[in-house]
Amino acid sequence: MSHIELSHLRKQFGKTTVVDDFNLTIDNGEFVVLVGPSGCGKSTTLRMVAGLESISHGQVMIDGQAMEQRPPHLRNIAMVFQNYALYPHMSVRENICFGLKKSGASTSFIQTQLKNVSQVLQLNEYLERRPAELSGGQRQRVAMGRALARDAKLYLFDEPLSNLDAKLRHHMRSEIARLQHQYQMTALYVTHDQTEAMTLGDRVIVMREGKIEQVGSPMELYLYPANTFVASFIGSPA
Ligand code: ADP
Ligand code: MG
Repeated sequence: MSHIELSHLRKQFGKTTVVDDFNLTIDNGEFVVLVGPSGCGKSTTLRMVAGLESISHGQVMIDGQAMEQRPPHLRNIAMVFQNYALYPHMSVRENICFGLKKSGASTSFIQTQLKNVSQVLQLNEYLERRPAELSGGQRQRVAMGRALARDAKLYLFDEPLSNLDAKLRHHMRSEIARLQHQYQMTALYVTHDQTEAMTLGDRVIVMREGKIEQVGSPMELYLYPANTFVASFIGSPA
C-alpha cells in the first residue's frame, strides 16, 4: 500500500526553529488536516513536503522513495494555494492543462482529465476566460481543478478557502468533501479554521509553535483533547 511518510521534519530560519520534529504517516486515500494558529509553522511544513522550501533535518518519503533531492515538479505532488496562484496570462483551459503537459502526459489523457474536472467543478462555461475575468470562488475552483487534473500521489492544500466570504467558504467546504469522497485523494490540508478541520479531516493534527500537540480523529480530539490548548482550539467542552 502506498503512503506518505514524514520523519523528524525540522525547519530553521537562522537560529529560529519554526518546525520541530514533525512526524506523520498518511495512508493512501487519507485526508489529513493540519490545523493551528497563524504562524505555528503549517505553511512551512507543506512547503518542505512540496519541495518549495529546503529541509533543515528529516525526511519526506512517498511510496518508499526519498524526495529531499527531487525538484518540486518531479515529486508527483499537486498543491493548491490560498491566493490561487493561477497563471494570469493563460485561459482556464490552459491553466488546467499546463502542468499536465509539463509532466509529459499524453494529449488524450490531458483531454480526459480536462473534461472530468471541468464537469466535476462546473468550469465548462469559463474555459476560455482568463483568471482576471473570474470571481474569487471561480478562481478557487480552477485552482482546485488544476490540482485534481494532475492525478497526483499527494495533494497539498494551504488554506484554500480563507480568501472567500463565509457563504462561499461554506459551499466550497461541502464541495471539497464531495471531491474527497469521489477522488479518494491522499491529502494534507492546512487551515486555521476549526470547522474545516473537524468536518474534512479523517485525522486532524493540532500544531502549536512548530510542534505537534495532538493527532487523532475529529471525534478523539473533541472528546479527549490532550491539553487545554487543544481543547480550546478545537472547541471541546471544558
Ligand atoms: P503558518 O502557515 O502556520 O501561519 P508559517 O509556516 O508561514 O506559519 O510560519 C511559521 C514561522 O516561520 C513564522 O514565525 C514565520 O514568521 C516564520 N517564517 C516563515 N517563512 C520564513 C522565512 N522565509 N524566513 C524567516 N522566517 C520565516
Ligand atoms: Mg500559512
